[in-house]
Amino acid sequence: MVQQVTILGATGSIGVQTLEVLALHPDRYRPFALAAFTRWQALAEQCLAFKPRYAVLRDEAAALALRNHLAAAGSDVEVLGGDEALNMVAAHPDADVVVAAIVGAAGVEPTMAAVHAGKRILLANKEALVVTGKIFMDAVEASGAELVPLDSEHNAIFQCMPHGNSASMKGGQKNAGVTRLILTASGGPFRTLDKEALMNVTPEQAVRHPNWDMGPKISVDSATLMNKGLELIEASWLFAMPSEKIDVVVHPQSVIHSMVEYEDGSVLAQLGTPDMRTPIACALAWPDRVASGATRLDFTQMSELQFEAPDMERFPCLRLAREALEAGGTATAVLNAANEVAVAAFLAGQIGFMDISHCAATALDKMLAPTCKTVEEVLAVDAATRRFVDAHITSLSR
Ligand code: NDP
Ligand code: MG
Repeated sequence: MVQQVTILGATGSIGVQTLEVLALHPDRYRPFALAAFTRWQALAEQCLAFKPRYAVLRDEAAALALRNHLAAAGSDVEVLGGDEALNMVAAHPDADVVVAAIVGAAGVEPTMAAVHAGKRILLANKEALVVTGKIFMDAVEASGAELVPLDSEHNAIFQCMPHGNSASMKGGQKNAGVTRLILTASGGPFRTLDKEALMNVTPEQAVRHPNWDMGPKISVDSATLMNKGLELIEASWLFAMPSEKIDVVVHPQSVIHSMVEYEDGSVLAQLGTPDMRTPIACALAWPDRVASGATRLDFTQMSELQFEAPDMERFPCLRLAREALEAGGTATAVLNAANEVAVAAFLAGQIGFMDISHCAATALDKMLAPTCKTVEEVLAVDAATRRFVDAHITSLSR
């Protein structure tokens, strides 16, 4: 049976690499719906190459431009626009797999639509889980959705966990005998810079990651170590492990993608070249294995693997994320919203690099973070935090 795949965030780094993997296996997978935000020209090219049933742009004006363009090109792809269309393709009865690869909290609603529809969800959009936490995991449990992590660290842990051949991440003994998760971090492009130098780094330097080619937001998150902080929160929810049982270790070569330590002292690690097509192919086919197109590891070419403790002084975002996770409630939603606003301001040249952690710390300090029961309530906390941080940034630049 050919599996029909919806890609939310098709035009992004993860979306494009997912399409590359699908193209290797036309006998197994077909792109069913491709969805993005505004970049209709990029989506048009994908539509002409991959011929999905649906193309969706959240931005209605961009959807109109895409519809006109594809009609003129004689394509019969159905083009839809707006939030509801995004939710529709995420929950469509004919979609077998949903790749959640929108960046940021913008992905919460369509990803939740896929969860409620009980889909197999390949989760790259870590922010959706960081923002909604327990609500998300409870909904997965209730709907019978299958959650398979795409994030390389979480995909590595998934492969090293004791659940054998089950693709399901929910319930049961999924962490039986596990004593610790060890998330590896590359340390980002500024790993060796001192605090003084960090004050003056530019957006161009921040988006130039040494090992991975990613979208701008996650690249900045990797440079501040907020990405590892968000991943710590993501791991806690995915694998039902408390903060104190999740360590972070800096490993600049990005060969070991993460590890799981067991009661008996065994540590299982997943290794590979730093290429997202490996976790994408793994998550698509699990428990089968299919080719990804990634280059293979050559151990004889590896001089050394280094490990060091992260420096919370120079990279406070990781500490803030751990504090937010331990605080509970919607503290992680506050952290995420503050970070999204601050990263956008940094990329726009409005604030400095070290102001990002400052914004996150201020928001965590000043915003209420109640426990919420619904996604709507959480998104209200997200929106209030965005307004607060926007105003804070304006006051900084005065
Ligand atoms: P990109 O910035 O490259 O792509 C983002 C995608 O999301 C684009 O398709 C974009 O559409 C779409 N998008 C952005 N905003 C909205 C919105 N408001 N509504 C609907 N769609 C939107 O990001 P990445 O691919 O790098 O990252 C995607 C997610 O995957 C993030 O959560 C990231 O943390 C995670 N991830 C990424 C990794 C990587 O290697 N890139 C590794 C591990 C996790 P458009 O092009 O039209 O703007
Ligand atoms: Mg990652």
